[in-house]
Amino acid sequence: MSFVNTKAIVIRAFDTGEGDRAITLIAKGIGKINVYAGGVRKTKSKNSAGTDIFAYSDFNLYVQSGKYRLNSAEIIESFYNLRNDIFAITYASHLAEIMGDMVQEEQQADDMLLLFLCALYMLSEGADPELVGACFEFKMACLNGFIPEITACRDCGVTLTEAPYYFDMDEYSVMCKDCGGKSMRFIPIGEGCLRALKYVATCDIRKTYKFTLDDVSKKQFVNLARKIIEKVNEREYHKLDYLDKLRD
Ligand SMILES: [Zn+2]
Repeated sequence: MSFVNTKAIVIRAFDTGEGDRAITLIAKGIGKINVYAGGVRKTKSKNSAGTDIFAYSDFNLYVQSGKYRLNSAEIIESFYNLRNDIFAITYASHLAEIMGDMVQEEQQADDMLLLFLCALYMLSEGADPELVGACFEFKMACLNGFIPEITACRDCGVTLTEAPYYFDMDEYSVMCKDCGGKSMRFIPIGEGCLRALKYVATCDIRKTYKFTLDDVSKKQFVNLARKIIEKVNEREYHKLDYLDKLRD
């Protein structure tokens, strides 16, 4: 039997059997792992809070027959305020789903973990969930090597200084108004959205969420970031759909 001590965030938690819980962690220095947490839902268990969804905890695990099992989980940060806001908690679930898709089993992903923890912090502090979500989605794409060419037009090479610009999802690049305006399949974006793309692509992970956008630019950036993450992961995400009904 081997023992593992790691700090990790719970991205999935399923209650099973008589007071047990199956959890998925993104663990520092390890990556994604599944852990069987026996007895944590029993009334006297000290490990219940530390294994809740979105708990960031100090985990003591052991490996038995190739499977991770829980010894103890001491909570570091619960991000409890997420639970007070339906938008914040739903966005957190959406981002957790993306983490589950992009972090590989037992492959260190500390940069993505940091990006996710910063997002949960911002959401729990009442930051705009749409903007946090878009920044996370686009930065996740960048961290995985999907960084678009955003300084010069990909067709004619002119420096991008005059809006509107156009984003080509197929070629994952930006075009000037003359080249991009020729086809309806390119997505028009303005100055603010291009600035957001440049900022998030190059900034320090901790500063990813530290900027604001006017409403029009935000809408463009939010739409584009969702298209990008869905293209990168070759799937659609639907956890946020029902929030649209709440907004109406
Ligand atoms: Zn051009």
